[in-house]
Amino acid sequence: MAYICGRDGAEMEEVYDIGIKYNEMELPEAEGLRCPECGMEFLMEDLVTGELNDAEAMLEAK
Ligand SMILES: [Zn+2]
Repeated sequence: MAYICGRDGAEMEEVYDIGIKYNEMELPEAEGLRCPECGMEFLMEDLVTGELNDAEAMLEAK
């Protein structure tokens, strides 16, 4: 399945080294998509399951 960047219409590349900084935490590098044109990154988890949103809700509840 191909994902197209919403900014410039380039086909996004599958990568495995997306660095995540989340609030104060640095999370392990993750699988995701990166646009070769503008460098925008998406987390695969975020695209497929919305897991990051669940984590956000959990963290904010503490
Ligand atoms: Zn782009």
